[in-house]
Amino acid sequence: MNVQQQIRAASADSTGHFDVVIAGAGISGVGAAYHLTKQCAGTSFVVLETQKSFGGTWLTHRYPGIRSDSDLHTFGYRFKPWTSAPIATAAEILSYMGEVIEENALGPHIRYQHKISSARWSSEENLWTIEAIRTDTGEAVRFTANFFWMCQGYYRHSEGYTPEWKATESFKGRIVHPQQWPDDLDYKNKKVVVIGSGATAATLIPAIARDSAHVTMLQRSPTYFRTGRNAIEIAETLRALQVDETWIHEITRRKILFDQDAFTRKTFEEPEAAKKDLLSAVEAYLGPDYDIATHFTPKYRPWRQRIAFIPDGDLFQGIKAGKASVVTDEIERFTETGILLKSGKELEADIIITATGFNLSANGDIDFSIDGKPLDFSQTVTYRGMMFTGVPNLVWVFGYFRASWTLRVDLVADFVCRLLNHMKDIGARKVTPALRPEDHNMPLLPWIDPENFNPGYMMRGMHLLPKRGDKPEWQHNQDYWAEKDEFPAIDLGDRAFVYE
Ligand SMILES: Cc1cc2nc3c(=O)[nH]c(=O)nc-3n(C[C@H](O)[C@H](O)[C@H](O)COP(=O)(O)OP(=O)(O)OC[C@H]3O[C@@H](n4cnc5c(N)ncnc54)[C@H](O)[C@@H]3O)c2cc1C
Repeated sequence: MNVQQQIRAASADSTGHFDVVIAGAGISGVGAAYHLTKQCAGTSFVVLETQKSFGGTWLTHRYPGIRSDSDLHTFGYRFKPWTSAPIATAAEILSYMGEVIEENALGPHIRYQHKISSARWSSEENLWTIEAIRTDTGEAVRFTANFFWMCQGYYRHSEGYTPEWKATESFKGRIVHPQQWPDDLDYKNKKVVVIGSGATAATLIPAIARDSAHVTMLQRSPTYFRTGRNAIEIAETLRALQVDETWIHEITRRKILFDQDAFTRKTFEEPEAAKKDLLSAVEAYLGPDYDIATHFTPKYRPWRQRIAFIPDGDLFQGIKAGKASVVTDEIERFTETGILLKSGKELEADIIITATGFNLSANGDIDFSIDGKPLDFSQTVTYRGMMFTGVPNLVWVFGYFRASWTLRVDLVADFVCRLLNHMKDIGARKVTPALRPEDHNMPLLPWIDPENFNPGYMMRGMHLLPKRGDKPEWQHNQDYWAEKDEFPAIDLGDRAFVYE
């Protein structure tokens, strides 16, 4: 602990003891709070959130066109029906989350503008001491808890990732990262270059193409996209039949998950056929003369990186209409008027948007310690991507990349509530995951196999993440279709859980 932190810790006001402290009021934290109230009645808890309101990702990102890239039947919770078009704007997601908070009286449990700075476990007291800084007053406050439920997401909200390029300072226009979208950015009739071709670029470009003079998507390498109508046929049919929305939500979820499972399996078993399906959908928008091989054909197998859904092909429609274009090249350096590419070509720009991704933050930038010793998560082994060897009474929600994140929020919550109820039943105050005798020779590997899933932010931050083993218990396999059956069957008496 540095001197500043010691001073703060010494002066922190205690604001009470809770059975559970939840970090973050994004879709994971609000889901965790809901499930606690329903499945662990009588458990006291508080949600500590840095920002002024709930929503996490959907509050931080304010760039034009911000929307989900997966459907809201599965990105929404299983317990609250989604009743509109499947791809939703940030505003619609915030309003849905607001309803969950309101309908379940979760509001009084959430403390906004509380940024957790440290979490210290004491085995003597069997408690976490969690300190937060109030971002409105600068005051340090302290909570104690039996259990810490980390719902702080996976990336740093305060700043996005921007690679280093040569001569950025020479550019006379504005450089903007979508994670810090300025309210006063006027792109009307301006030439805009968007660096990157992930989900953010694909959402932003159609939204600004209408008003700007021209938007160029500059990518080093192409990305896969899925496209189709922003509607789900089975939901439309059931709605026309006046079926209850609860049923529509459940049936539509099952249909989406069934189809996604089939497609994911195809990407592993018949990658060329899956690739052809994706590329022919793009060709249907852009026509046979467009250079799809250069601009939309990635070198990797589909699903090794997230595949964004483009509703109604709006990105491709913008390209077809000439309002947007794609350049696949590398940046040599910035110039006064734009970007010089390695090919020698120069892109003129009034505004450059760096849609270049996130900075991974495995622990919400919280200083963790256990019995006075700093905790380095990268030296732990993960139990199913949610608990960590040697770390007592703590769960982290890390969702899915190939399926909606929230599917795992519900699954992890069921597990945590079952675990908390079990501890109560057996009178345990502490549970710590530990490798069993049969696990001791298990190879310890990086958090995720890069052959399986390898976006830039994971590759840049992999060394910070806990390790995985080669057995299902000791990894986050990103497979919802397996975990939906495995999680409810987890044996809480397994020797991987050490109770005291
Ligand atoms: C633009 C964008 C679009 C996306 N679209 C999809 C999609 O369509 N489908 C999908 O499945 N996934 C999507 N994702 C991934 C997405 O981030 C997750 O699905 C989901 O929103 C994560 O929710 P979360 O609550 O776990 O984390 P976050 O949304 O990151 O929220 C975490 C919250 O914790 C708070 N917090 C962090 N550290 C602390 C601390 N130390 N103290 C207190 N509070 C803290 C943060 O302020 C934040 O409010 C998208 C991501 C981005 C950036």
